[in-house]
Amino acid sequence: MASVEQVQSVEQPSASENGGAPARPGIEVENPATGEIVATVPDLDADAVAALAARARAAQPGWEAYGFDGRARILLRAQKWLMDNADQVVQTIVSETGKTFEDATFAEISYAANAFGFWAKHAGEYLGDERVKSSQLLVKGKKLMLRYRPLGLIGVIGPWNYPLTNSFGDCIPALAAGNSVILKPSEITPLTSLLMAEGLRECGLPDDVFQVATGRGETGAALIDEVDMIMFTGSTRTGRKVAEAAAKRLIPVSLELGGKDPMIVLSDADLERAANFATYYSMQNAGQTCISIERVYVEEPAYDEFVAKVSEKVRSLRVGKPDGPGSVDVGAITFPPQLQTIEDHVTDAVDKGARVLAGGHASKQGGGRFYEPTVLVDVDHTMKCMTEETFGPTLPIMKVSDADEAVRLANDSPYGLASSVFTRDTDRGEQIARRIDAGATTVNDAMINYAALELPMGGAKASGLGSRHGAGGIRKYASQQAIVITPRLALKKEPHMFPYKGRTSRLLAGVFKFLYGRGRRD
Ligand code: NDP
Repeated sequence: MASVEQVQSVEQPSASENGGAPARPGIEVENPATGEIVATVPDLDADAVAALAARARAAQPGWEAYGFDGRARILLRAQKWLMDNADQVVQTIVSETGKTFEDATFAEISYAANAFGFWAKHAGEYLGDERVKSSQLLVKGKKLMLRYRPLGLIGVIGPWNYPLTNSFGDCIPALAAGNSVILKPSEITPLTSLLMAEGLRECGLPDDVFQVATGRGETGAALIDEVDMIMFTGSTRTGRKVAEAAAKRLIPVSLELGGKDPMIVLSDADLERAANFATYYSMQNAGQTCISIERVYVEEPAYDEFVAKVSEKVRSLRVGKPDGPGSVDVGAITFPPQLQTIEDHVTDAVDKGARVLAGGHASKQGGGRFYEPTVLVDVDHTMKCMTEETFGPTLPIMKVSDADEAVRLANDSPYGLASSVFTRDTDRGEQIARRIDAGATTVNDAMINYAALELPMGGAKASGLGSRHGAGGIRKYASQQAIVITPRLALKKEPHMFPYKGRTSRLLAGVFKFLYGRGRRD
């Protein structure tokens, strides 16, 4: 088993590995809950990334030759490895993110374990050869095939909020499809990816099929220059840069970006359930989840009771340094500049007339970085907390007159990642769900669509391009090839070929008219 010590002692590339350039200073990884430096990792430059890519390309054909069954065997071993080493992986995630044991276990370990099994089982089904039938007369009698082939080398660039789920998680289908993968984790949280690389090696993944390129944004940019496809998760701002770089090279790109997810609470909702969900899915992972509830619209008759319930629940949350299962509810703010964004959004709201019913301040405990779980009311769309991604433990709640106003405000956003509607009338809930411009909507639930890997997960509007999960979540890592096979016993020449003869051409034109022109149309 790989230990944290092994992960921490990742070596800097030598001058020869680094294109002759002297090694750059490493990147220090901080535990956000304590302020301690827990490791230092290499900061790879473009030459080092190119060297990784060359190795990955050399290894890919051998991995593709394993076939779906061979690759599934390794992925299933990795699933077992993850369960056997869950304590170690959780400890590593917690040490670099400052999140709670539960946030690391429920939303990261359980996701990756499920994903290993899901892609091992379904890769062949989604990517296997398909026999196709056509109504086109010109291909009658021929064998038509759709074949998916791995793209070759996939670059995955990930954010800091879920180092296992959102950085490493996207590598699993890319590997299952037969590609080599280079993962560039966030410079803030590289340790989990390095540990997973150790784990995959122990499970028999051939050398160089999966590699980790630690570094900063520059390393990510260098990776885009080397790969055949880029899977990016992160902010909309960086996502645009990634899309531009991919466009220059004409390589496919899949983008999972920011969100400002609305929750709508109708007056007939089960308010106890709605309040529990609003509290949990806004504060879980300290609000640092792309699909966390970021704003709530409540119909007037339910507003006071809902606000009272949520405020009480949020005030009771325990914030602080995680120390094993059940120790705290809300962990640290992982990314230092995020704290300023959260403070800015709360201050801006208060300056414009919002009231704070819970929290409202940063909280320094030891050397750690925390923000009190916060409830804001009397908010509107002039305030940043209602229009910009806060990505922290804050919940602004706005009163609306009816469902139409709620839908209009929910859609009044550049983002469209996920959303939720709470009502006892599930038919009405579904109708409202269909009117929200978002990649996902849950009725009487939140975020849980992410756990169903059969469903696509991707954002509308500025929340992304493409999706993860489902058939599309693995087909994006493959190119399509159409294969048409004409049987051995075929005509020497087809009737539509040279030389054109009036009689044959008129006959064929008549056949097209017969096939496509009969009958009346409206
Ligand atoms: P960033 O966009 O800042 O960074 C994402 C990754 O891109 C990091 O690894 C970063 O490296 C790297 N990067 C930075 N600049 C470049 C560049 N020019 N070219 C290539 N790569 C680059 O996002 P955060 O890490 O701050 O993550 C938070 C964001 O991610 C939030 O907006 C959140 O909503 C979104 N997100 C979306 C999800 C979804 O599924 N839609 C899921 C999870 C998060 P480095 O960190 O070293 O600078």
